[in-house]
Amino acid sequence: ISASANSPSSSGEIIENVVIIGSGPAGYTAAIYAARANLKPVVFEGYQMGGVPGGQLMTTTEVENFPGFPEGITGPDLMERMRKQAERWGAELYPEDVESLSVKTAPFTVQSSERKVKCHSIIYATGATAKRLRLPREEEFWSRGISACAICDGASPLFKGQVLAVVGGGDTATEEALYLTKYARHVHLLVRRDQLRASKAMQDRVINNPNITVHYNTETVDVLSNTKGQMSGILLRRVDTGEETELEAKGLFYGIGHSPNSQLLEGQVELDSSGYVLVREGTSNTSVEGVFAAGDVQDHEWRQAVTAAGSGCMAALSAERYLTSNN
Ligand code: FAD
Repeated sequence: ISASANSPSSSGEIIENVVIIGSGPAGYTAAIYAARANLKPVVFEGYQMGGVPGGQLMTTTEVENFPGFPEGITGPDLMERMRKQAERWGAELYPEDVESLSVKTAPFTVQSSERKVKCHSIIYATGATAKRLRLPREEEFWSRGISACAICDGASPLFKGQVLAVVGGGDTATEEALYLTKYARHVHLLVRRDQLRASKAMQDRVINNPNITVHYNTETVDVLSNTKGQMSGILLRRVDTGEETELEAKGLFYGIGHSPNSQLLEGQVELDSSGYVLVREGTSNTSVEGVFAAGDVQDHEWRQAVTAAGSGCMAALSAERYLTSNN
């Protein structure tokens, strides 16, 4: 294993030092660090977002909490900058999805639609996908009224001082509802069942908060708009009676969970019961030596661009140490 250049095996085939899978803040940060360490990383950027690399932030407008941008920066602009920085230091970028990989024996194998790559280490940074309701007008109002992240968007001028709604009945939804009370005029929590699934402590906090109204047995049918094309309300349906009502609201936040994109590692690396990649606490190390995980795919708690970037840095430094110690 060479920590300075990709190495030919005894059969003459090239074995890369490190393959990075994913092009969100975790993947690009790992690429920047690995490239600067002269590891010549190969990055599979994926093309799930309609052919555009860059991960979840490609679907948002302003990012106001990434350090270094006091005026804010758009998600696509931030990701383009990260991409350029990775390229500048020599990361090799392929806009392809990885279709399968094998980490059962070293060197590992990564197969995309276009190529098969052998490598000594892998940084797995494929992110997570916020579960969506698939409402009829969801695409039209995504980031223009509908959001999947209260921490990211709650303070935005679009939502500040407005009546907002959160859909879901578990810990994510109750946390989002409580968080939004800092900014919103009032928050409605839309719960499909006849009770909350969140922990008792969270339930108590929500129920005792005068700024939150909980609507049980309530299905979210669609969003409504005014004559200016802005979101103005939500169409609701009672699960028990089928009765439909309109709720005035300027924002709808999804709190129905995330799905980690960990399918490729199933059966090869330890995952938790929700599919998140398990890493040893305080590290990026998975259950397989030489395989590191970073970003939302291993983080069900923080799910922020800056934490994803931080864990991408950790994964790259860990991969460098691993390669050096196995040299
Ligand atoms: P992601 O950004 O999810 O990127 C994963 C990447 O992996 C993608 O490029 C994907 O194409 C790729 N991939 C997946 N599978 C494969 C495969 N098989 N082969 C190759 N590539 C693959 N956070 C903030 O800090 N501030 C905000 O303002 C903010 N706003 C947000 C707004 C929205 C609408 C959303 C959805 C999220 C927002 N977040 C925000 C959260 C933030 O986007 C995530 O925490 C962060 O993007 C996670 O980074 P990541 O690198 O782990 O994964």
